[in-house]
Amino acid sequence: MPLNRRDFMKLGLGACLLPAVGCSRAEAVVSEEMYVFGTLVGVDVLSRDTKAARAAIAEVSHAFTRQNRDWHAWKPGALGDLNRAIAAGRAHEVDPDLLPLLREVRELARASGGLFNPAIGKLVGLWGFHHDEMPVGAPPHARAVAELVAAAPSMDDLEFDGARVSSRNPQVQIDLGGHAKGVALNRALDRLAALGHGNALVNLGGNLAVSGTRGDRPWRIGVRHPQGDGAIASLEVSGRMAVVTSGTYERYRQDGDRRYPHIIDPRSGQPATHVVSATVLHPDAARADVAATALVVAGTEAWPEVARSLGVRDVMIVDEAGRVQLTPGIAAKVQFVEPPASVKTVEIA
Ligand code: ADP
Ligand code: MG
Repeated sequence: MPLNRRDFMKLGLGACLLPAVGCSRAEAVVSEEMYVFGTLVGVDVLSRDTKAARAAIAEVSHAFTRQNRDWHAWKPGALGDLNRAIAAGRAHEVDPDLLPLLREVRELARASGGLFNPAIGKLVGLWGFHHDEMPVGAPPHARAVAELVAAAPSMDDLEFDGARVSSRNPQVQIDLGGHAKGVALNRALDRLAALGHGNALVNLGGNLAVSGTRGDRPWRIGVRHPQGDGAIASLEVSGRMAVVTSGTYERYRQDGDRRYPHIIDPRSGQPATHVVSATVLHPDAARADVAATALVVAGTEAWPEVARSLGVRDVMIVDEAGRVQLTPGIAAKVQFVEPPASVKTVEIA
């Protein structure tokens, strides 16, 4: 028996929507979820061809798995090999996929005035964040922290001779935890677009980037509430845009009722606590990722200056008391789920 139109719809094959080009399947969002980068990853692709979309998402998901291994801050992989060579005082031929990240992140670290410093891997490890499980118990000894701060590890300690990288400072240990997911987002959207999927949303555990639209609507994104479950706000974005949030609420060291979050101020060696969440909108997800982390370190007063020098203009900051500061560009887009304790608009240009 031939299929009628309703049967087609039930099978998800869509209807004839574009008579000018003949019978075409309706566009639909094809979604997949996976667990990579220590977090839940979601990819949504708007497509008329579910099979092609699933194949493209599978390719992107394999790339995430490779990147997670090669760029991991403490597990064996290409970055781990470089860190071992640095600790041993040896020059190392860096994996060609990792090399551009090192150069890029060095520039971004400079632009952040050193508040974003991926060379402080030893400090991050000392606080106990180089484990899948969150650390518990008293913070590390003040003297051990002070020694690592005094060693002043920096991306500027690295010397590049083509792909051969060495460090003048053996205390450098590179941790791309605040940058690599942004790079992965950029590459995923680039690859999906190259495969013909220019309308997509990629979510790496709350670090999101979109391209195009969700059909006749923009993509709608929730920003997680730093002090509770659910979203604090939502915003609509379209075109190539990243919305990256860094916060102190997800990974922290618990010592009795004190929490020491995973973003460390390189100047003191202590966790940054005053900004509980920083959200950055920027077309370049890697820059947005770095900026979100740097603005948490910068704190409730200095963040506009750091945002300016990092070249980001659309920012939302939430502090410990639930007060929100945001720039006019993001204020125009954001919708709060519930009214925050206070909202202040701040110009950074
Ligand atoms: P998430 O990975 O949860 O999205 P971030 O992007 O803010 O969060 O990255 C935080 C990670 O970056 C930390 O877990 C640590 O590995 C690393 N890190 C901590 N402090 C700094 C810093 N001041 N500069 C650069 N990287 C940092
Ligand atoms: Mg970050």
